[in-house]
Amino acid sequence: MLNKDQFADNHFIRTIIEEDLASGKYARIQTRFPPEPNGYLHIGHAKSICLNFGLAYLYDGLCNLRFDDTNPEKESEEYVRAIKEDVQWLGFHWHEEHFASDYFDQLYAFALQLIRDGKAYVDDLDAEEMREYRGTLTQAGKNSPYRERSIDENLDLFERMRTGEFPDGSKTLRLKIDMAAGNINMRDPVIYRIRRVHHHRTGDKWVIYPMYDFTHAISDALEHITHSLCTLEFEAHRPLYDWVVDNIAIDNHPHQYEFSRLELLYSITSKRKLNQLVTQGHVQGWDDPRMPTISGMRRRGYTPEGLRLFAKRVGISKSENVVDMGVLESAIREELEHAAPRMIAVLNPIKVELVNYDEAATESRMAPFHPNQPEMGERMMPLSKTLYIEANDFAMEPPKGWQRLTPGGEVRLRYSYVIKCEEVVQDSSGRVVLLKCRIDHDTLGKKPEGRKVKGVIHWLSTDHAVSATVRLYDRLFTVERPDAVRGEDGQYLDFTDFLNGDSMTEIDAWVEPVAKTLAPEAHYQFERLGYFVTDRYDYTAEKPVFNRTVTLRDTWQNTHK
Ligand code: ATP
Ligand code: MG
Repeated sequence: MLNKDQFADNHFIRTIIEEDLASGKYARIQTRFPPEPNGYLHIGHAKSICLNFGLAYLYDGLCNLRFDDTNPEKESEEYVRAIKEDVQWLGFHWHEEHFASDYFDQLYAFALQLIRDGKAYVDDLDAEEMREYRGTLTQAGKNSPYRERSIDENLDLFERMRTGEFPDGSKTLRLKIDMAAGNINMRDPVIYRIRRVHHHRTGDKWVIYPMYDFTHAISDALEHITHSLCTLEFEAHRPLYDWVVDNIAIDNHPHQYEFSRLELLYSITSKRKLNQLVTQGHVQGWDDPRMPTISGMRRRGYTPEGLRLFAKRVGISKSENVVDMGVLESAIREELEHAAPRMIAVLNPIKVELVNYDEAATESRMAPFHPNQPEMGERMMPLSKTLYIEANDFAMEPPKGWQRLTPGGEVRLRYSYVIKCEEVVQDSSGRVVLLKCRIDHDTLGKKPEGRKVKGVIHWLSTDHAVSATVRLYDRLFTVERPDAVRGEDGQYLDFTDFLNGDSMTEIDAWVEPVAKTLAPEAHYQFERLGYFVTDRYDYTAEKPVFNRTVTLRDTWQNTHK
């Protein structure tokens, strides 16, 4: 459930909006989230979604979902579908759904008008020549020899570009701004290029496609966007954005504001690079639980509430936004703490035999599904003669301060009795195969007489436990910035060189019977172990499959321990 508090962190964009509302500049704000459907959304997009939809929600405004689909070769319907699902799953509803490609006719008409106004021309320079003419940061560009074509000639050539008379790349339509502008983006930017590619929505209708800056500014204006929020790399494009909206016949003028991109350490926030992980088979798909995609994080067990909390925590500003994975995990953990019921699982079992177990004298107790949410109910924790406990809750030679089980030592079974380890049975190789323990029947719900037993361990009755597959995930990369490591020659190394070979482990584990009755995407805390979720696709009642979402504490260094 959304509430306004979730978006009420202070930042400069909110200040601007409040001023604009107070001054009456706008009666209502309108934002948009404009992904290009060339891949699945990632954690960086989650930040932008929470910003755009969150501001609209906070100020009773509107937010559109707009697909910026002007690069047909990389875009697809699959991505469109996935993006819509992700935005909805994060908890947001768009006002209108648009595709930049729905504006192709209008964009074309605006381009014609710019030509008629003497503000655009058809250029024959090829990409190489155009680069030479463009100049550099310190050197002004030169006018193209085609810049002074007549309006009629430009109209004729542009029409013939559209009807497919010229080969790909042979001509472009450029704005006539200023080849000496200090801002290179203003040096007669290209607004149309010839590309013979099938478009996932407009098919083969067009062989010319509009460029991003032109399309984006006009799409914003057509949709009556008031605040157009984008990441900082577009700051230098803002003069062009303003130029376009000022020079077309549209009376409303959206404004662009830039904030810094989120960068998550030990991760990748680029659709193109994530695509490489998928196509090269380094992961099992865009929604692999190790992926920083929204769908991957969902499958991993991250929740919309947790991701929204994370977005709020990382904040909006113009300064660098490099965030440690620990910040993301603690937001996820924090939301799951109160939302996830508990159950017991034993991931790495050894057997315990309760030597004095006695049906008549040994009592089983109920255990609450949540320590402080009684409405979640409770369930029976049945004892039986043999139990599974976690192998690492026993030590033959305990280190200093050890509070768990040890030969001759005592420990409490969670929700049950204190037991004492009387005998350790080992196989011929010395591996511990069974612990024979004695129940102190006088310790149910009360402290043992005359001594302190500090340790509490979790356990499952072997008669009742059900088997499950548990997938443990670790970070996907071994270095903080896998896409920014340079080799000795100063060149960037391939980020796939830094994949963690041990990022997933699948184990057989024991869980409580309730595990057989869950829905996909059910979130549970396995007591003492972490938060887990039933796998969206692979979970069945016959074979429950759980994914580890996050450990209980920040154990980045050693998540397998
Ligand atoms: P990518 O390189 O992953 O494709 P992009 O910026 O090209 O990123 P778009 O689909 O164009 O992706 O992005 C849609 C919106 O999401 C844009 O407004 C963009 O600024 C924002 N966005 C993308 N990545 C991040 C990020 N890492 N942090 C914050 N916002 C982001
Ligand atoms: Mg992009």
